[in-house]
Amino acid sequence: MQNPLLNPEEKDHALEENLRPSSLQEFVGQQKVIQNLSVFIRAAKQRGEALDHVILSGPPGLGKTTLAYIIAREMGVQIKPTTGPVLEKPGDLAGLLTNLEEGDVLFIDEIHRLNPVVEEYLYSAMEDYKLDIVIDSGPNARSVQIDLNRFTLVGATTRKGLLTAPLRARFGIDMRLDYYDTELLQRIALRTAHILNFGITETGAHEIARRSRGTPRIVNKLLRRTRDFAMVDGLDTITDAIADKALNALDVDTNGLDEMDVRILKAIIENYSGGPVGLGTLAVAVGEDKGTIEEVYEPFLIKEGFIQRTPKGRVAASKAYQYLGVKKSGGENDLFG
Ligand code: ADP
Repeated sequence: MQNPLLNPEEKDHALEENLRPSSLQEFVGQQKVIQNLSVFIRAAKQRGEALDHVILSGPPGLGKTTLAYIIAREMGVQIKPTTGPVLEKPGDLAGLLTNLEEGDVLFIDEIHRLNPVVEEYLYSAMEDYKLDIVIDSGPNARSVQIDLNRFTLVGATTRKGLLTAPLRARFGIDMRLDYYDTELLQRIALRTAHILNFGITETGAHEIARRSRGTPRIVNKLLRRTRDFAMVDGLDTITDAIADKALNALDVDTNGLDEMDVRILKAIIENYSGGPVGLGTLAVAVGEDKGTIEEVYEPFLIKEGFIQRTPKGRVAASKAYQYLGVKKSGGENDLFG
């Protein structure tokens, strides 16, 4: 897609499409998820059935959409993508469902944002492949049942906790994607550079990988920006030196933390003496949604050892103090830095 009229965000989106792995084999990391999925896909194909419904959860940019497309491809079926908030009324859902062919994948991104009325219609569609639609209103109102082709619903969510119990129960396959370690991200950086036909050294890939917050989407974005810096310097290869220069210019932290991560650490240490602080209080302090902190930011900060989750609330770990250059102490008056 080389459309000059695309705005930068759309261009990034188009590039992202090119970089998506297209088979389970090409997908880097998430070994357990991939192994299990490949068994379920093989078994469904052997039985000649549609794959059971799949829910993919985890922070943004870890490969949920990519996996949905891979599932369709491996099953040899079409995929119809949509997102939760787009399906405003039952008719929107009915339109999509009645157009699915046998075995097709309906991919609903941000499925936690489905309108509750639409969600209820989804229950019988998922369970019995039937859709009850009410036509007309008032005394003429009547319910018509439509038989659907057997399909696979693949739902993706960053907020699994927000899914209602009845919806969650209807997914036979439940998979959670986790942050990637540096070695895997380095492989993704090498792969992406290869697809973009640009040189990269192992150490250049490592530098980008370790500063990408455990996230493939960030690797790809930082790699493209680093390529810009390399090109302007007349280089055809990304080295660790040019990666370091580019990432510093982009204000990308050497630990891969982003601005909100830092704000969270600062709030816990500077406003609440290192904690414990409740999630709701913390959310107000940093001006971010409570659920987003819990499901997008916190898992990475916990994984990297910056904060701990205790029954009383979130506590800053020694690594957070070191990171902010603040001395750990009993009271905030003793803090410096
Ligand atoms: P999500 O749907 O979880 O937000 P995406 O599936 O859109 O994430 O992935 C974002 C980008 O990261 C994709 O364009 C893809 O190029 C890359 N990506 C994600 N997972 C992997 C992976 N395991 N291996 C290689 N690239 C990946």
